[in-house]
Amino acid sequence: MLTNRQLFLMHLGQTSPAPMMLEIVKAEGVFLYGPSGEKYLDLVSGVSVSNTGHRHPRVTEAIRKQTEEYLHLMVYGEMIQSPQVRYAGKLAEILPPALDSTYFVNSGSEAVEGALKLAKRYTGRSGIVYFRNAYHGSTHGALSVQGSETFRAAYRPLLPDTRQVGFNTPESFEAIGEETACVIIEPVQAEAGVIPADQGFLQALRKKCTECGTLLIFDEAQTGFGRTGTMFAFERYGTVPDILVLAKAIGGGMPLGAFVSSREIMSVLSVNPQLGHITTFGGHPVCCAAGLAALEVIMEENLTAGCNERSMLLRKELRHPSISCIRGEGLLLAVQLKSPEAVNRIIQHAPEFGLILDYFLFCGDAFRIAPPLTITEDEIKYACRQLLKLIGEAS
Ligand code: PMP
Repeated sequence: MLTNRQLFLMHLGQTSPAPMMLEIVKAEGVFLYGPSGEKYLDLVSGVSVSNTGHRHPRVTEAIRKQTEEYLHLMVYGEMIQSPQVRYAGKLAEILPPALDSTYFVNSGSEAVEGALKLAKRYTGRSGIVYFRNAYHGSTHGALSVQGSETFRAAYRPLLPDTRQVGFNTPESFEAIGEETACVIIEPVQAEAGVIPADQGFLQALRKKCTECGTLLIFDEAQTGFGRTGTMFAFERYGTVPDILVLAKAIGGGMPLGAFVSSREIMSVLSVNPQLGHITTFGGHPVCCAAGLAALEVIMEENLTAGCNERSMLLRKELRHPSISCIRGEGLLLAVQLKSPEAVNRIIQHAPEFGLILDYFLFCGDAFRIAPPLTITEDEIKYACRQLLKLIGEAS
């Protein structure tokens, strides 16, 4: 019989030339476990997904309960399914009034597709402005607004009428005009190596979009649900988007995404043509039940406040001459080293030190720290001790 390792290499579609290749048999809280009892502290959260930790008991209980009621019933938006409508209601409760209508999909890329389509349909325009080093997903539409030519070049032609502009540079606004359907931006650029938008920049962008009748889309796939120390990063900017993209932690560890807007804007998807955006599995009841339970945990356990405290502790404990800076917000951090080679060595050797680390797509000389928000002070201290040993040996 083939081993799982052999099956992985032979029969699983591959995209990475150097996959982690760690076999995991169980995950709980902030830890992942290998087949021979190896224990790894997860400093990545499956890329900002497991904000409430792995298999939070409230989340697994919600999943179990929902599996006893029903799984898939019907394509999206036809039947009244309690987990979906309860979750949409909860989001409307915690988001500003202009974001009171949620369309659930299966992933971040799909949420971006829905958001771009919604903006085109609502404005009757086709222009899309996006930012250098932005990441919005891997489907054709999302790839068309990805700010890195390395990943796009081989897949042309992509969507027409898209314009890439500089992030945090006010000259970018010249690209926005009355032909622009939307501007899509991450308030904190994650894959660029955790680069927050300047307060003034985002506010001026909001103003420019309003003047031009252009819809402003915030992609909070990675920054949502407490990750950066507030429930959503945009809350710190005093600006509200017309469309909000959510994904990753929205499902509490299950596959889910959403684009959220006002009922007025969202309503255009049901006329000319009807069924303007449809999905079979979007808003799957088990995923919505899990996501809602996770959101309740974030709120009840006040994980956003805890996230800022843990972030400060981590920055305090993690001091080493090889680290030129630690950038980021809350528990979405980029540890900047002197070279991509050092980052590579550290990430590759991390499992030997009982840690899981990861790269950024567009920032080769930094590695990512984004643990579950449930990580305790002791676990942070342990992680930092191990990290310092690792950096000492591998940098
Ligand atoms: N937007 C952002 C900001 C992301 O970080 C990602 C995923 N890394 C996506 C969209 C795409 O999400 P998914 O992989 O679920 O399609």
